[in-house]
Amino acid sequence: MTPDISKEMLDKEIEKEADVLLHTLFPICRSLTGDGVRKTLRELSKMANFAIKEIPSGTVCYDWTVPPEWNIRDAYIADSKGKRLVDFKKNNLHVVSYSAPISKTMAFDELKKYLYTLPALPQAIPYRTSYYKKDWGFCLSYEQYKMMDRQERYRVYIASTLEPGSMTYGECILRGTSGKEFLVSAYCCHPSLANDNLSGIVLWTLLLRELKKRKLRHSYRFLIAPETIGAIAYLRKNEKAMKKIAGGFIITSVAGPGKFGYKHTFLGDHLIDRAVHLAFRDRGVDYVSYPFDVAGSDERHFSAPYFRIPMGTICKDKYYEYDYYHTSLDDLRFVRARYLVETFQLYLSAIENLEMNVTYKSLSPYSEPQLGRRGLYPPLGGFQKTGAGTPREQKIVSELDAIRWLMFMSDGETSLLAIAERSGLPLRDLYQTAEKLQKHKLLKITNKT
Ligand code: ZN
Repeated sequence: MTPDISKEMLDKEIEKEADVLLHTLFPICRSLTGDGVRKTLRELSKMANFAIKEIPSGTVCYDWTVPPEWNIRDAYIADSKGKRLVDFKKNNLHVVSYSAPISKTMAFDELKKYLYTLPALPQAIPYRTSYYKKDWGFCLSYEQYKMMDRQERYRVYIASTLEPGSMTYGECILRGTSGKEFLVSAYCCHPSLANDNLSGIVLWTLLLRELKKRKLRHSYRFLIAPETIGAIAYLRKNEKAMKKIAGGFIITSVAGPGKFGYKHTFLGDHLIDRAVHLAFRDRGVDYVSYPFDVAGSDERHFSAPYFRIPMGTICKDKYYEYDYYHTSLDDLRFVRARYLVETFQLYLSAIENLEMNVTYKSLSPYSEPQLGRRGLYPPLGGFQKTGAGTPREQKIVSELDAIRWLMFMSDGETSLLAIAERSGLPLRDLYQTAEKLQKHKLLKITNKT
């Protein structure tokens, strides 16, 4: 029992840390560029150190150009008495991200062209951006919009700057020995939206910290950057290295109250997909399976024709699928640190599956080896039927199962992942048994990748 109790305590500890981070980072106004992103990355890097880097505005990256840096100090719509009706300081979603500065008084009829609401979800403030078209605007709940006095003249004020500066991103490369490298990416450009994608950047950091503690077989490139332009600029800057990436994950929307989901890589049955399926199966967790779709996140760029990196995404309440997506209702009441930790464990399991995916060759290929004289066969006959025997006997029986599958399938070609799929046995159990069989000189590793 002890390992389970300590594991539970560990999960509780991580949950507390995740909760603190969610609360600390939620109010910060993030965008493609600017001090909000810098502050967020600095805060995250206290938990797991990574390099914070800058790419200057104006840098051409393939078909795109890094935009001017956007910063905002204040913004509001006030009535003629000076009362702030819509206030950026109360909720940063109130301002269209990348709004140009403005200071003007105008009639409602003119102002309404710059107001964005969501009649279908009347209490929610929508999330809107205008990164590449110089514009300005305010977002507010439809309820508030309806109550605005149509005869009033409104004061509109946005204290923002759009100036040459830079785009900030974070990077950390963990080196393994196999020569194979995977990408773990998250986007950090969303303002006060909890599931999409504050939850993702917190999970990304927890995962980085966890993998830093381990001796790794593969390399993992952790990238945290603004969506689209961040991914594209990173690809441009690291073209050679990115061309060699074997696959990866885009971490987003991981702490909602809804179902777990998995968006497949563009290949659908890549190693990444298989490692994820086994993570769900072996942890006994159900999930909604989403086929690849070009609409989504940065997989469009990482998997573009030149790079073709298969990228998968494990979600809890997938983006697009939940009603509060890209609205002010995707807040800290919507997400739970506990859900975030559950998804964290799934990502970790998927990565562990990649780590454990070794190929073995049987050193007794002519027939099944005699297990009894090696002490590998259950000491008493007669209970090798599923469901029979004491827990200890059951363990021996399932280990016998694992031994038989491993000795049968290990032809130097079939990976452990394939054996786990074929046998229905947990990959971790197979791995542990295979370690034992190596000590008994019954198996040897043929393929270290
Ligand atoms: Zn989004």
